Amino acid sequence: MRYLVLTDIHANLEALEAVLEDAGDYDAVLCLGDLVGYGPNPNECVERVRELPDLTCLAGNHDWAALGKLDLSTFNSEARKAAEWTRDQLRDDVSAFLGELPPKLETEDFALAHGSPRDPIWEYLVVDYQGPPNFEEFSAPFCFVGHTHVPRTFVETKNGSNVHVEVQMPGAGDEVDLADGDRRIVNPGGVGQPRNGDPRAAYGIWDSETGIFTFRRVPYNVSATQKKIQKAGLPGVLGTRLRLGI
Ligand code: ZN
Repeated sequence: MRYLVLTDIHANLEALEAVLEDAGDYDAVLCLGDLVGYGPNPNECVERVRELPDLTCLAGNHDWAALGKLDLSTFNSEARKAAEWTRDQLRDDVSAFLGELPPKLETEDFALAHGSPRDPIWEYLVVDYQGPPNFEEFSAPFCFVGHTHVPRTFVETKNGSNVHVEVQMPGAGDEVDLADGDRRIVNPGGVGQPRNGDPRAAYGIWDSETGIFTFRRVPYNVSATQKKIQKAGLPGVLGTRLRLGI
């Protein structure tokens, strides 16, 4: 099976469409949450994701915020304004769909979490010492996560009883073998609001037969999204950061 792995779409329809076009053929889709929040097309993005084949989908903190399931005082002012705007826009069927999504899940083959396995709504997985307690939270060979919008891999290696976790920062086109016996936590990077200084939409393709996961990037029409952000009256910085990839 060829899996398309998506996360942090953030209501950016141009980025989502570019990814779907660039991905080629795929049999199933794993979407790790934050479909809405920040961007100007929340209903359209959810609608597009819902129709994808063999979809497994999580909710993220911004989805919960738009649904009123989180206290917005924990958000910075731009995120809060965007969440309030999104809440006003969401159609009932879209809210119902988002409201059913879990923030994490696990199958025999893989685990999925929006932020991290131990704290799927809030934790940003960034540094190596966050690895060990999170590897303890799942038993599958690997876990896909989102939330930081930065492509990153945590690899667990064991030397006797010593558990060591190494963090790697993969680039576009880099591959990782998820079937080589080491356990991993893998973040493909964000579709709709990349934050590693590269404005291109980020996503991944996992081939479950070979075990190979590929980190991919694709450019999209940032200006079109920026114009929509402006027209919607969303904070201008949300458009500026898309151009910079921050
Ligand atoms: Zn996000």
